[in-house]
Amino acid sequence: MTMTDTEERAGAGTANDLAVDVRAVYRTFEQDAAPVRALRGADLQVNRSEFAAVMGPSGCGKSTLLNIVAGLDVPDEGEVFVASERLTGMDENQLALMRRRHIGIVFQFFNLLEGMSVLENVVMPAVIAGAKRKPAEARARDLLDLLGIGDKARQAPGVLSGGQRQRLAIARALANQPTMLLADEPTGALDSAGGAEVMELFRRLHTGGQTILLVTHDQEVAAAASRIVWMRDGRMADGETDPTTPTLVGQPRP
Ligand code: ADP
Ligand code: MG
Repeated sequence: MTMTDTEERAGAGTANDLAVDVRAVYRTFEQDAAPVRALRGADLQVNRSEFAAVMGPSGCGKSTLLNIVAGLDVPDEGEVFVASERLTGMDENQLALMRRRHIGIVFQFFNLLEGMSVLENVVMPAVIAGAKRKPAEARARDLLDLLGIGDKARQAPGVLSGGQRQRLAIARALANQPTMLLADEPTGALDSAGGAEVMELFRRLHTGGQTILLVTHDQEVAAAASRIVWMRDGRMADGETDPTTPTLVGQPRP
């Protein structure tokens, strides 16, 4: 991004140091039958070092929102800033660079490289991003230790339990020290023990200062976050709260 972009934002009275700033984003998928309006004016602000969860029913647009923040999809309307970089107008290469600098992402299914060792699964993305092999390997080892699977470094991902596989996917997402860890239903494919393991890890990473944005339809998962944002029909459901979740607070006012 250019200096001019920063100045424009500052000039508009909106300079801030948010990790994520999504403003009035619309995304419609053209279908044969009828267009699907996945996002209809979605807004989301996430502070640095915050652990935010977006919760809402299946189909409300959570994954679409997360993909747009990750630069994997582009909105039809609205603006998106990640670490103060304006994604709007970036081409594919610029989005890829943005992802490399700022984004680590984990999905429901772990997308591990089964033919490689656990260690290589974490080293690879860093090396691809331009890191030197030795420091990348040292960091990968530290990450695996931190995430409790250091003793599995030489083995194939196939020996890991579900919870361990997701921890490996998280280690890989953290390999490039991203500004932000994004997670889309990270416990969706795990049994309850594996899910608890993974959520405990997210809590620990957040305590260590990691910014996390997670989307889920599962209230138990969202409860690990420091703030829950509710979503419905493609936008934030302002004021909608669930009395069974004591940690709920609203969206911060801009
Ligand atoms: P959630 O993650 O909250 O379950 P999604 O963001 O995946 O919701 O989907 C929101 C809506 O957009 C759904 O109706 C879904 O079917 C539709 N949708 C998502 N991605 C696509 C796509 N690539 N093509 C067509 N429709 C899509
Ligand atoms: Mg989804």
